[in-house]
Amino acid sequence: VRSNNSTESLKRNFSDDNRESDALFAKKQKLAPHRKSLPIATVENQLVQEVWKHDTLIIVGETGGGKTTQLPQFLYNAGFCGNGRLIGITQPSCVAAVNVSKRVAEECGVKLGETVGYSIRFENVTSSSTRIKYMTDGFLLREAISDPSLSRYSVIIVDEAHERTVETDVLLGVLKNVQRSRSESVKLKLIIMSASLDARIFSEYFGGARAVHIQGRQFPVDKFYTYHLPKAYLHASLITLFQIHLEEEAGDILVFLTGKEEIEFVERLVKEKLKQLPENSQKLVAVPLFSSLPSEQQTQAFTPACPGFRKVILATKIAETSVTIPGIKYVIDPGFAKVHFYNPNTGLEPLIAVPISKAQALQRSGRAGRERPGKCFRLYPENEFWKLEDSTKPDIKRCDLSNAILQLKALGVHDITRFDFIEKPTGESIIKSLEQLTLLGALGDDRKLSDPVGRQMARLPLPPIYSKALIKASELNCLEEMLITVAMLSAGSMFFTPREKLDEARTARKRFENPEGDHLTLINVYRASDQFLENRSGLSRENHEEKFQKWCKKYFIDSCSLRRAREIHSQIHEGVEQMGLSFASCGDNMFQFRRCLAASFFLKVALKQSDGQYRFLTYDPANELVVQIHPSSVLFGKKPECIVFNELVETNDQKFICNTTRIDYSWSTELAPPRLKKVWERHKLPWISNCR
Ligand code: ADP
Ligand code: MG
Repeated sequence: VRSNNSTESLKRNFSDDNRESDALFAKKQKLAPHRKSLPIATVENQLVQEVWKHDTLIIVGETGGGKTTQLPQFLYNAGFCGNGRLIGITQPSCVAAVNVSKRVAEECGVKLGETVGYSIRFENVTSSSTRIKYMTDGFLLREAISDPSLSRYSVIIVDEAHERTVETDVLLGVLKNVQRSRSESVKLKLIIMSASLDARIFSEYFGGARAVHIQGRQFPVDKFYTYHLPKAYLHASLITLFQIHLEEEAGDILVFLTGKEEIEFVERLVKEKLKQLPENSQKLVAVPLFSSLPSEQQTQAFTPACPGFRKVILATKIAETSVTIPGIKYVIDPGFAKVHFYNPNTGLEPLIAVPISKAQALQRSGRAGRERPGKCFRLYPENEFWKLEDSTKPDIKRCDLSNAILQLKALGVHDITRFDFIEKPTGESIIKSLEQLTLLGALGDDRKLSDPVGRQMARLPLPPIYSKALIKASELNCLEEMLITVAMLSAGSMFFTPREKLDEARTARKRFENPEGDHLTLINVYRASDQFLENRSGLSRENHEEKFQKWCKKYFIDSCSLRRAREIHSQIHEGVEQMGLSFASCGDNMFQFRRCLAASFFLKVALKQSDGQYRFLTYDPANELVVQIHPSSVLFGKKPECIVFNELVETNDQKFICNTTRIDYSWSTELAPPRLKKVWERHKLPWISNCR
């Protein structure tokens, strides 16, 4: 029996639903003319015919032409989703997958998660009615482990293939096999899309597959160079930005920076400088765009600024090709991007800022000419442009392969060296990754995937070292603590420290500090946020968010990172529960948790030397590294004998380790795998012989 109350609420829901579907329809109608005006719209029929005719098709076209948003809709309308099967589109980054699926849902007039949805690491917005599914390349790879023939998909589009992430490269090889293995009646259509005009490498890889070029629509972009290389490009970016704002006509500005820290730094400076301008010149808003930004905040970059305001988007290289930001007329390009550089000797993979390639520089300047003629300010002299490499080296040539290799092993590829890569990684990096996976216990001595550890690790969407830590923690009865730690470490830097408020920030954070180390401190932060949110669970959503941000600000915590950590936590929690790991907390027994850190992060142990610096115990004693504790660590200045750490940051001539916790050296020798001890013995550490 339904009470009156619930009939009322049903009625209300019904009219809410009506209003919502009206709004969705209105939005769709509004976007329709724009869709029709895209270059790709004129070739819809030809493209659909090409896909019917060819099992593998390469599509090349300039950024902004409509490949990513339109082609899946064309195929859906042409009947490629028979029998409830899906069109899957992979993107090299989460930002791109989320943003593009939102846009396509709007264009289709549906709620996100219904016909159009997305799945990325830690977030799944799809349902049984989803037919167009955007996802990251890594997500599809993991899906292939549980469904090796990817049977739910009728079409798979590998988008932004020119970015050549490790996952894209591995995925191409996997898809080639899947396509061969499917029977005639359930053929897989494979489409590779790229913004680089050179389709040859993809076409050759797929046995001379058909390639089609889509005419782009690009307005002219004037390029300007500096006379000299600027000493500080952030400063130069800031000057250029304000010059444009004060002297050039209306139009938004896109600045390419290398990462979150730079972006936040410039964002602060813009706000400060703006205050010094006359009031009528203050109509400028700076918005950040980088991949670890929570998706709600990313939306800001894509929505127009208030009328009369100029928007300046401070973005990483994700704004080069994979996301389209409307309204850009000016681009500022200092010419750098951060890339991972794997060092096989240390097993570390620091992010390093390097000069971009010519192809990247062209993509960047192209962003200014999407809607009308634009201007691009390159912050280097023209002769420097000609010295740049033609194209960027694919990631597989310089990144850590252990995750990719783990995935391949889980897919049944035993001999990695014989896998059909589009470009082969070096033998050395394969061997080192195999070694690392063996030390972590994911592979047995026969280099086969171990069961259950290796199999479990391959399923978790985390770097192998973190997956291993979770498994270890469940053995040592502190999975609750490790889950928080891994979520916090995965979410990016948790604290912000404005230069002018250094002391204030340190004092505010004291409340969370655990003198034994940063991992324990991170747990305290997370638990404090738990408590804070629990106490305010009755508040409305907006109110809640506002209070949360205030609380974070008070303790100099980066609220974006903490939110993200909380999201990641709940997602991995689910994954870990499905794996059947045993959940337990070590309570106040942090001694036990530190032992677990030692047992998990034995590949990242550093020992104090007589001069107070630290020696990082690499696999190869000939490549030993001297490092120092980063000033942001709670152990800075305390100098314990032995620590585990998670990250290495390199500045001009120094190497700092971050996220450090004190351990007892004897734990490592007791808990690390025996084969690692042999390596360490070669370091000739005096106390190894003592404790054995
Ligand atoms: P391509 O994949 O060929 O680079 P897209 O399909 O991503 O092109 O974009 C096609 C067009 O759709 C863009 O030129 C832009 O006008 C519009 N567009 C795409 N995404 C968005 C968005 N999030 N907001 C507004 N417009 C968008
Ligand atoms: Mg695209």
